[in-house]
Amino acid sequence: MTHVFYRNSRTTPPKAIRGEGAYIYDSTGKRYLDGSGGAAVSCLGHSDPDVIAAVQAQVETLEFAHTGFFTSEPAEALAERLIAHAPEGLDKVYFVSGGSEAVETALKMARQYFVETGEPQRTCFISRRQSYHGNTLGALAAGGNVWRKAQFAPLLAETSHIAPCYAYRGQEEGESQESYGHRVANELEAELLRVGPETVIAFIAEPVVGATLGAVPAVPGYFKRIREICDRYGVLLILDEVMCGMGRTGTLFACEQDGVAPDIITIAKGLGAGYQPIGATLCSAHIHEAFAQGSGFFQHGHTYIGHPVACAAGDAVVAKLTDGGHVERAARMGEKLDHALRAAFEDHPHIGDIRGRGMFRGLEIVADRASKTPFDPALGINKKVKAAAFEAGLICYPMGGTVDGQRGDHVLLAPPFILSEDQIGELVEKLGTAFATVLS
Ligand code: PMP
Repeated sequence: MTHVFYRNSRTTPPKAIRGEGAYIYDSTGKRYLDGSGGAAVSCLGHSDPDVIAAVQAQVETLEFAHTGFFTSEPAEALAERLIAHAPEGLDKVYFVSGGSEAVETALKMARQYFVETGEPQRTCFISRRQSYHGNTLGALAAGGNVWRKAQFAPLLAETSHIAPCYAYRGQEEGESQESYGHRVANELEAELLRVGPETVIAFIAEPVVGATLGAVPAVPGYFKRIREICDRYGVLLILDEVMCGMGRTGTLFACEQDGVAPDIITIAKGLGAGYQPIGATLCSAHIHEAFAQGSGFFQHGHTYIGHPVACAAGDAVVAKLTDGGHVERAARMGEKLDHALRAAFEDHPHIGDIRGRGMFRGLEIVADRASKTPFDPALGINKKVKAAAFEAGLICYPMGGTVDGQRGDHVLLAPPFILSEDQIGELVEKLGTAFATVLS
């Protein structure tokens, strides 16, 4: 009997007891290889001594000081470190406790920016279909995932949507990657003109789509075109790197590989690497300047913003990612993971696509490869793969097959960057066992 309210209200999951490197152990002693870092969280594995030491030292020095009164050393240090490595123009960091809060902050910051600068008629957001930006009401409204939103729709602000950049399903035969990218990016311009560009606050998207599509990067040139369109109509560009940021794709910020700098960027998950709950919203100097010149007060905040222990963990994590070489390691081991996945599953009759960047990889499961037909969502293939992998001692993150029905089931892999070559082999072997159980 448990008093914890789990998402799945009919079952109680096994009890996680201990973490070591890339493994989690449950109360029966069973060992699981963490092939998805939870959900792209545990970039440094589960027992990193440097992050643990940083957390311990901070909790003994100052566990909390409210930002209504104080800043703190760890918050200042982490902000400085992030800005030193951030895309051009990003200049200020607003710390929160997770991804949804980072997105809520981004949405409210963008809205207040236009209030401050005399354009209060800008009241809506544009995002992409099948996108996910968090579960709180604002972030949920900003997303385009029909299934996640359905029962809360009456509570959500309306957002309009364009197609995702999803080459496997969207690129037409004979169409180059570049023209596909331009075609789908141009949907933003069409949508702006439809709703009236002067009413739009921002466009929000993930550079590499995580949970909803399964590690789908945009094609080259897509985000450059998106940036041009945002600039032409004075609309802000918010990039949600809650999942794909912090080295996950082989660069500290995923958008570095797309050659664009957003006005606002959200990060979380890998920022605390699981050692502390922390997220952040980074914004460009001109946005902060508008607040400073205007009301001088961002009408937003939570009790735990800039939490010193969370910031100390984040600072130790980002130091290891950048100076400690773990971002490069993610790029290097990510290539090896990609090769191993291709060697094992490229010819699998039910694996339609293998994609991703760095230690962020997705496999799309289809009923028929030639026609790319997904399995019937009622079969719950992704859930079965998750269960079979878990049984085999592998944590992976399958999704899909939901009522918006415009994609197949997929498996998302986001392992710790510390994974060894042997552990890559173990991951692929266990995933193969799960596929053999469910897909044969
Ligand atoms: N944005 C993206 C892209 C995400 O993947 C997630 C979480 N999966 C969130 C926002 C929300 O983050 P959190 O669960 O930490 O609130």
